[in-house]
Amino acid sequence: MTALQEERGTAGLKELAEQAGRDLEDASAPEILRWAARTFGKRFCVTSSMEDAVVAHLASRAMPGVDVVFLDTGYHFPETIGTRDAVEVVMDVNVITLTPRQTVAEQDAEYGPKLHDRDPDLCCRLRKVRPLEEGLKDYLAWATGLRRDESPTRANTPVVGWDEKRQKVKISPIARWTQDDVDAYVAEHGVLTNPLLTDGYASVGCAPCTRRVLEGEDARAGRWAGRAKTECGLHG
Ligand code: SF4
Repeated sequence: MTALQEERGTAGLKELAEQAGRDLEDASAPEILRWAARTFGKRFCVTSSMEDAVVAHLASRAMPGVDVVFLDTGYHFPETIGTRDAVEVVMDVNVITLTPRQTVAEQDAEYGPKLHDRDPDLCCRLRKVRPLEEGLKDYLAWATGLRRDESPTRANTPVVGWDEKRQKVKISPIARWTQDDVDAYVAEHGVLTNPLLTDGYASVGCAPCTRRVLEGEDARAGRWAGRAKTECGLHG
């Protein structure tokens, strides 16, 4: 247990998160991340899907050397792994790669091949949700790149909230940003982005569960297309 947890307890942390969500609703992304760095120090990390490095870049300015957690499911596009490797080299961050307990081959042997087609919820639980739960256990707060404009399921994302499932403070510093805001930040700061974003993909996940989006579709329409699934369970 950390000093902050001892001082406040889990209920106190939840109260802190909810109060910060109200206080910081109109704050800029750098202000939100400076608050996170001041409040949680090394007990704070950023998670990144390596679709782009915008939140990692913002966080590295608030807290140089910040931990950036990446979930390597074993199913990523080579471009995503390349983005992760480049972020590690060019940015002042500490990239931590989490892997599932089983390799894809071991999972295939136990559950049969292409579990992502037959039971994507179980596949995501084994390859994303559980590794993240294990990887976050030493942190009090984690930041995501969730944005309200990405899909109706994300429309109420708080800038700071309470992650009931993991009992952590969850920070979404760019929740109020639009795609134009992201594009402008990338252009202004030369932030690394996944090359697939300029190849028809608006949201990048695992290769078997991601397709290019069509004209007029929302950014996440290419994820688990044709299946009754819109989120991997990390944010539910
Ligand atoms: Fe499996 Fe697809 Fe989920 Fe990746 S996105 S963990 S391949 S179901």
